[in-house]
This record gives sequence, C-alpha cells and structure tokens, in this order.
Amino acid sequence: MKVGVLALQGAFKLHVQALKRLGVEAIEVRTLENFEASQALIIPGGESTTMSFLLESSGIFEALQERSNNGMPILGTCAGMILLSSKITDGRNDQKPLKLIDIEVRRNGYGRQIDSFESDLMIKGFENFFKGVFIRAPLVESVGENVDVLAELNGQPIMCRQESTIVTSFHPELADDDRIHAEFLEMVSNS
Ligand code: GLN
Repeated sequence: MKVGVLALQGAFKLHVQALKRLGVEAIEVRTLENFEASQALIIPGGESTTMSFLLESSGIFEALQERSNNGMPILGTCAGMILLSSKITDGRNDQKPLKLIDIEVRRNGYGRQIDSFESDLMIKGFENFFKGVFIRAPLVESVGENVDVLAELNGQPIMCRQESTIVTSFHPELADDDRIHAEFLEMVSNS
C-alpha cells in the first residue's frame, strides 16, 4: 500500500512516521507525479493559504478533485480540513476550497485566547479517549446532511467523514496514538 502525504508545506513529517510505524510505504507528495503514485492522501496541518496556492500551481488541486470523485481516500487534518471543506470563512480572498466534504469552516475559529489547547476526545468507534491537540484550529460552522460527525467538542464537530474523506480540526499525528491513522489505512485497504 502506498499512501501519499502532501509535503508542499507544513506538518507532514510526523504523518510519514505514523504510516511507517503502521508498516505502510509513505510517499512525500510534492509533484503531480508523486500524487499519481499514491493510493490515498493525507493533507497535514500547516498554513492553508500557502498550501492552497501550491496545490493549484502544482496541478494537484484538480487531479485530487478528480481522484476523490473516483473514491480516493483522503485524510485532512487542521489546515487539511480547511482545504477540503466546501466553504472557508476568514481565509485569503483568492483561497479556493477543494469542496470534497460538505462542511463550512472558519479559519482560526477558536479565537486568540485558546489558539492552542488539548482536550480528551470521545471518537465514534473508539473505546478510550483520544488526545486532541488543537493548534489555531478551524471551527466547523455547518455540516451537510451527508456528513457523519465522528467527534464533537463543546457541541461543535471536530472530526467528520463523508464517503472516503475524513477530516479533523486537531492534529492526530501529535497524539502518540496511531488509531486514527490505522482506521484511515483500514479504509484504504477496503477501497
Ligand atoms: N490556521 C491555519 C490555517 O489557516 C491552520 C493551523 C494548523 O494547521 N495547525 O491554515
């Protein structure tokens, strides 16, 4: 199994390490060729405005929309969630969402005082808490009817799934806990 991690910018290294721990070949995706060689894609946290620009200039933006419509599994964390959403509030004016999951997000929506925080999360299907690490996280402001909310914090969705796309507003690669990556790989092997 070859799983790509978008490595144009941001926090991709720990995702690559998680995949390796789980015995999977990880491809750092910087070019369209790297992307074409990947069966599935993780979009990490980082700076969504920069990533958005680089996704378009590399040609990965359109290729990703096409592959996703054909069932490619995608996991987007934090900035990755912003990029995959259907509408971005407080983004850069020319920042285009990929529209691969029907959620609306507000960039940095948790406000200044709690720019970064941790919280124990109950995730659907997991028996024990998962440590949620939030770093200038996006706030999910609305969710379409085909979206499954897998976890909430204070009544707000923080992990969602629609078909083969999973998004988290937190950073699962910082939790010392590979359960979300393992679940994603299970989805990849069934795809
Ligand atoms: N606030 C960042 C953005 O808008 C996301 C932060 C993160 O990925 N940790 O891209």
